[in-house]
Amino acid sequence: MIKKSRCGFFSCVETGCHIDLKDKSRAGLNIRGAHPQALMIDYHVHTALCGHAEGKMEEYVLSAISNGLKEICFLDHLTTRPYDRKISMTVAEVPVYYKEARRLQEKYHSKIEVKAGLECDFDPEMVSAIEDVVGSFSFDCIGASVHFIDDWNIVSRRKAARYGTQDLAELGKRYVASLLNMMSYDFFDVVCHIDVIKKFGHPELRSFLDSQEEIFVEIKKKGCAVEVNTSGYDHPVCEAYPSPAILFRLCENSVPITLGSDAHRPEDVGRYFARTIKMIRSAGYEYLLSFDKRKARIRNLAY
Ligand SMILES: [Zn+2]
Ligand SMILES: [Zn+2]
Repeated sequence: MIKKSRCGFFSCVETGCHIDLKDKSRAGLNIRGAHPQALMIDYHVHTALCGHAEGKMEEYVLSAISNGLKEICFLDHLTTRPYDRKISMTVAEVPVYYKEARRLQEKYHSKIEVKAGLECDFDPEMVSAIEDVVGSFSFDCIGASVHFIDDWNIVSRRKAARYGTQDLAELGKRYVASLLNMMSYDFFDVVCHIDVIKKFGHPELRSFLDSQEEIFVEIKKKGCAVEVNTSGYDHPVCEAYPSPAILFRLCENSVPITLGSDAHRPEDVGRYFARTIKMIRSAGYEYLLSFDKRKARIRNLAY
């Protein structure tokens, strides 16, 4: 028996398998053969390699196991343009990172699935460099983020004072333009912290994306997932990325989601997930996506 959920996904009542009938042909989304399981995943975890996170990769895995998670994906920073040495691992470090993620996958496979991915900075001039790295490994998931406007790292606390010198409405427009530009490329599977421009709590930016209909349309056309990122609860804005309003619109547009803590310390793995799952359900979602060699898998929501 099939019933239609509010967000346009179809739910098989007997098995709980969720299938988006409108997007069966979506490139890379392997819906057939998905085995829905109730589990909790964290698809955005950093490592000390990026220069501003703490802890060994193994400590993140152990933290995830102790928090009862069933799947964790390393999504450490890859910034190909040399802006600042403390924001990303180097391209030369990627093989070490990848190898360690695979070692941990092997070591802990009976307790947790460990996946390897990257959080790539969107930079239109460096897309081919990113594609070279991404194409050299069998990553499970590639996230894409807008962290920069020109040479300004808009998520850096050290550089947050610069917001005070900006025309914030204009800044919001430039951020949206960068997101839309990113949607024209194919190197990624997930849009990370989509409304991170609100990070420092400026009222003008807090709900700027809520009314940007063009973005929801482009993401739907693109066929990628959007991450629900819980790090925002620890930032001045004190709200997850995306906002409940955006999540509602994404669900209406049948855009799939995944979930990540953006942990930069092992103890932050899985942070605020219980409250965030409630928000996700309120928006109309009944599932999350996980990834295996960049093919999406549909997971029922736990909790
Ligand atoms: Zn980020
Ligand atoms: Zn991150």
